[in-house]
Amino acid sequence: MAWYCSANNNDGLVNNLKSARIIKSEKVEKAMKAVDRKNYVSQSPYKDSPQQIGFGATISAPHMHAHALQNLEPFLQPGMKVLDVGCGSGYLTTCFAEMVGPEGKVIGMEHIKGLVDLSRKNIQKDRPDLLESQRVILVYGDGRKGYPEEALYDCIHVGAAAEKTPQALIDQLNAPGRLFIPVGSYSQSIYQIDKDENGNVTQKEIMGVMYVPLTDADKQWSP
Ligand code: SAH
Repeated sequence: MAWYCSANNNDGLVNNLKSARIIKSEKVEKAMKAVDRKNYVSQSPYKDSPQQIGFGATISAPHMHAHALQNLEPFLQPGMKVLDVGCGSGYLTTCFAEMVGPEGKVIGMEHIKGLVDLSRKNIQKDRPDLLESQRVILVYGDGRKGYPEEALYDCIHVGAAAEKTPQALIDQLNAPGRLFIPVGSYSQSIYQIDKDENGNVTQKEIMGVMYVPLTDADKQWSP
């Protein structure tokens, strides 16, 4: 079902994701309708599959963006703080900012300068207010180390598959907090890692996926 949500425009795509029951809440529907994918990828923005964005990266498929927003929703409440590791096109970073509202903050992180620039260019075109107000901050660095300068985070989204879950990301989670991360190399799954209010950490395997690797910049792309 998931791969059959393609449409001719953004609203149509979101409606299809809702009919497929991948989008379950009004808040996620509203956020995805507010952020038009055409501002984040030029070719086939409404096709339900990943698309190349250069530098060996892809914008994830719309159904995976919807799964991530839906899974993290309890930790995307107004005023919350989010780390988006591997922000790529900047699309999901903007959706997160939409969900956490004007009192919230989202840090988008990339290990390739060209992709920090791409995120900035796309968000500047779509929602310049988010950058001006610093509701969204874009940083350059290795996402496996997280971004301690702004920790703790109510939730952390990782847009690339890790060989194993980086401990730094668990350490930078608030209590309570949630990490959404694809893990594995040949066979990958999304893990939902929860830290409860006492700091106890549990994890749950959610679904099989295929993401680009969370890796060293020179292994992903060389100029
Ligand atoms: N979520 C984004 C991009 C997904 S592709 C979107 O949907 O548009 C995965 C991204 O992770 C790529 O942009 C890649 O450059 C980035 N990435 C891979 N390894 C990384 C690392 N170690 N640190 C930070 N970003 C990384």
